[in-house]
Amino acid sequence: METTPAPALSGFSSLATIDLGAIRYNVAELRRRAGSADLMAVVKADAYGHGLVPAARAALAGGASWLGVAQLTEALELRRAGVTAPLLTWLYVPGADLGAALAADIDVAVTGLWTLREVEAAARECGLPARIHLKVDTGLARGGAWGAEWEELMPAVAALAAEHVVQVVGIFSHFAYADAPQHPTVRAQQERFEGAIAELTRVGITPQLRHLANSAATLTNPSAHYDLVRPGIAMYGHSPVPDLGSSADFGLREAMRLTARLAHVKDAPADQGVSYGHTYRTTAETTVGLVPMGYSDGVPRNASNVGPVSIGGERFTIAGRVCMDQFVVDLGRGTSARPGDEVVLFGVGADGEPTAQDWAAATDTISYELVTRVGARVARTWIGGEA
Ligand SMILES: *Cc1c(COP(=O)(O)O)cnc(C)c1O
Repeated sequence: METTPAPALSGFSSLATIDLGAIRYNVAELRRRAGSADLMAVVKADAYGHGLVPAARAALAGGASWLGVAQLTEALELRRAGVTAPLLTWLYVPGADLGAALAADIDVAVTGLWTLREVEAAARECGLPARIHLKVDTGLARGGAWGAEWEELMPAVAALAAEHVVQVVGIFSHFAYADAPQHPTVRAQQERFEGAIAELTRVGITPQLRHLANSAATLTNPSAHYDLVRPGIAMYGHSPVPDLGSSADFGLREAMRLTARLAHVKDAPADQGVSYGHTYRTTAETTVGLVPMGYSDGVPRNASNVGPVSIGGERFTIAGRVCMDQFVVDLGRGTSARPGDEVVLFGVGADGEPTAQDWAAATDTISYELVTRVGARVARTWIGGEA
């Protein structure tokens, strides 16, 4: 596997260390919780910032039998890297190169009438049947067909299936409230999903793979597992339902550790405003440390004065505004911190360092956003890969 050993931290301003062993472990755990259902590892958005190809390989090693991505370019990248596992892509626009998808043995979502027409055209041109998964909108009101479009889509698909222009592999949908399993929309969406499957059966289509569950539903709603579950965030070790249970409660391990190194340490007087706008003021003589990561590296600007870090095993909060390239920490008097010391933004949390969920809570977002937005300047390294 094309993973590099962890480099010494030396020389990198900031580093995301991805533990592929944790991804394998989490996928195996999710696979176990999914019972008889198969698992599609969702590796869109560069595997939620964890590296598309290494994360996909780790997920397959952990027991995933499918891979899922949003965009066609992501799917093609996996194929170019030699990943041959069954692969679904579900979000594209008119003019997308669906012929390339079919030629690369990539399953495509059919989300409505225009997508069916483009898939049909690509299949006829390539002379290959298109493997499709029908996306029914059961109430999220996002992608997928519903109402009159769904009614029109079903017989059109049946006609093309009879001609072997398309092969209906799956039907899928997505929850609006998977993170609140008791919410009435959850049951309503499942009923709508099962209704859509029954309607398909009446036009002569029986998809082998019915899939509906994201991470939250995989962990909290066994009735939504059907034939295949589609977890994303949980694979990377984060709880999709932090109000219901932590990652540890679900037996998951955070795969990404985000660190930087102190670029400067200096004394500061009492009553000194810190960083742009002086939104933080020192209360006494102190020592401040400069962390060379900013909002362009994925540290949210609204982490100003609230983002947690750990230095030398001690927790601190960002002092003042997060800038584009840097932020400041008030280290207190008598600190032993020195330039080059490691600053942990988030990790597993076991040694008292913050987790991505701690950052999400501090900045009023979700762990998904923290891990996916880590910027291009942050070096990446992968550990725990299989030999
Ligand atoms: C992103 C995505 C998932 C995975 O969602 P998580 O909440 O990360 O588990 C599953 N299915 C679809 C269609 C998605 O877009």
